[in-house]
Formats: sequence, C-alpha cells, structure tokens
Amino acid sequence: MHPAPRTQHSAPLGLYIHIPFCSAICNYCNFNRGLFDADLKTRYVDALVTEIGRVGRAGGAGREEADTIFFGGGTPSLLEPDEIARIIATCDASFDVAADREVTLEANPETVTEARLAAFRRAGVNRLSFGVQSFKDEELRRLSRLHSAGRARDAAGEARAAGFENVSLDLMMWLPEQRVADWLASVDAAIALAPDHLSLYLLEIYPNAPLKDDMARARWSQAPDADAAAMYLESLDRLDAAGYEQYEISNVARPGRRSRHNLKYWTDGEWLGFGCGAHSTRDGVRWKNVASTEDYADRIARGESTAVDARRLGPDERLGDALFTGLRLVDGIDGDAIQRRYGVDVWRRFGPDLERFLEAGCLRREGARLGLTRRGMLLANEVMSVFV
Ligand code: SF4
Repeated sequence: MHPAPRTQHSAPLGLYIHIPFCSAICNYCNFNRGLFDADLKTRYVDALVTEIGRVGRAGGAGREEADTIFFGGGTPSLLEPDEIARIIATCDASFDVAADREVTLEANPETVTEARLAAFRRAGVNRLSFGVQSFKDEELRRLSRLHSAGRARDAAGEARAAGFENVSLDLMMWLPEQRVADWLASVDAAIALAPDHLSLYLLEIYPNAPLKDDMARARWSQAPDADAAAMYLESLDRLDAAGYEQYEISNVARPGRRSRHNLKYWTDGEWLGFGCGAHSTRDGVRWKNVASTEDYADRIARGESTAVDARRLGPDERLGDALFTGLRLVDGIDGDAIQRRYGVDVWRRFGPDLERFLEAGCLRREGARLGLTRRGMLLANEVMSVFV
C-alpha cells in the first residue's frame, strides 16, 4: 500500500524517477542498478508511467503540487528522449508540476551526442548532471568507467550547444593512486568548463566492491587521510575563487543554480520516488519501492503495490532527520524553524553535547542558526551523531 493522500499541503513535492540500467557496472558502484536490457527497459518505462499515474490519482480530487523532477540512476541517459518525454508528460498529467520546474537528467558522457542532448532538451529536461568523476584517463580506467576525459569535456560542450543553461558535473576525490595535485587538476579542468554546479564526492569503497580486489591485485592505494582532507579543503578554496558558492557539504553552485530537487532532501522537504528501490517521504511517512527491477515491473503489471517498509516516523526521528540533514547545509539549521515545527529548542536539548564542537571550531552559532564550519564538515559524521 502507498500511504494515504496528503492531509496538509506544504512546499511542492519533488518527483524522483529511478532508472536502474547501465551499459557496464563500475567496480566501485553500490547503487541499485543492473545491465541494460532493451526488453526490460521497455517494460520498466511502461511500469513507471503506470505507477506515476496511480500515485498521482491517489492524491484525490486535486493534483498535488510538485516543482522538481529528477531522473537518477543507474544511467537515465540510456533511455530514449521520447521515453523521457512520455514520463514527464505523465508527471504533468498526474501532478500539478510548476511551470518553472527543474527537470534533471543524470547522464554519462559516453551515452550522449549533441543531437541526443537536444532531443532530451525538447523532451522537457532543463538540467543535466554528468557523471564525470575525473579528468584523468588513468583514474577513469581504475574506476572501470567507460568514458575518457576528452569525452566528458566534449559532452559538456555538447550540452551547451544543445541549449542547456544548467549543467552540473560530478567529481570523485580520494581515488586509488590519486594524489592531491591530481585531484586539483581535475577540479581545475572542471572549472575551465564553467559548469553551473559541481558535486564533489569522496570515494567510498564498500566491503564487497570489486574495486577492492582490483586495488589489491594492482597494489593501488589511497592517499593518507590528511591528504583527503587537503583535497577537500583546497578544492573548495579554488571553487570559491572561481565564483562558486558552497551550499552543502559536497555541493557548490553558481548563484541561483543550487539543486532545487536535492535541497528538498536537506531542508526537511517531501518527495515521491518512482521506480525500483526509490524512496519517498510524505506527511511523516517514509517508504521505499521493492528493489528488484523485474519484481517492480511484475508487481505493477499485476496491479499490486510496489511499496515496502512503509512506516510513520516518530517525532524524535523526524526531528533527528531534520537536524541531521540540515547540518549538511552551509546555512545550517534554523533553530526558530525547528522550534515552530517540532516544538523543540535545539540548543536546550543538544547544547551540552554540541558545546565541545563549538569550542573546537567545528560548529558556528549565529543567532538561531547552527552550522558546520568548513573544517567541521570534515568531521560531520561525528557532529551529527549527537542528533541520532
Ligand atoms: S554508471 Fe553509475 S550507476 Fe552505473 S554502474 Fe557506474 S557508478 Fe553505478
């Protein structure tokens, strides 16, 4: 069962659409994805359209407001532009999606051409997020990525030529064998392409990742922790100097180009996720869809629910989540807003535990706002554990 329709309307919803197909599986990847299969993809798109329509109709008489659509994956750019157009049209028919919507498509550089990107633009996509990861070919090879640095550069240029005014690039730091100077060279290469937004992620090597074996076989290592900290801090300094504003631990943007969709996750917002493994949070209820692509499509075809693990969040959990995610933002947590929404004085409740982080220069407190300093962002997990 999907949870009941909304009882109160707050900010517009975000709509997340999961596309679980990839041309090859990267050795470090821990996402919900599988190899591209044309027949399954066709069945999956039909299922998505059915699910979106079904959930939209469950909203009752009036269509619920939404203002962002985010195609994430996987590799959403493996879908055909007319499939993307069909899904967006279904969102429009099922939700009241704002005219000034943000519609993001995650794209891998090797999957696009200028003509294909122009077709995505005509389909209604207005923001591209490229999974670049590195501008060094040997680093891309170590990650088993399919594209080269040159292809990533070309894709960014093709996006502009295709009419995209909002382009984001993802980069990953602390890669095997990557030194601080290598990382900064990738950051400089990204800045040279003048994207509107950049996401900087730290490579996390999960326990069973094939990359772990590749590293052992080839005797690759990661730089020491202190170098990882230097990578983070020095790249942010360069991005500051280039006119980017850091607004979240891992994200910077030109003014007006913050990811509106992702901000919903960090500002106690509400969103609906469609497709296998997609998560949703609405009206204090959280649920996720069944993870398997086939199971998801089968359930939709049989008219069954795809939601699993639906549960109402308790007041402390909601508060903890709001604080935990809010602290990821450079603007930090607004204590007055928390007081209004949850009836809790953050400082009175958590002050004694937070004091030591303030004294250590990891946190700053300005009026009712509480945020991490840039240095504190390196210790974010430790600070956030106070709220859990
Ligand atoms: S392209 Fe992205 S989602 Fe697909 S396997 Fe590679 S890292 Fe995972």
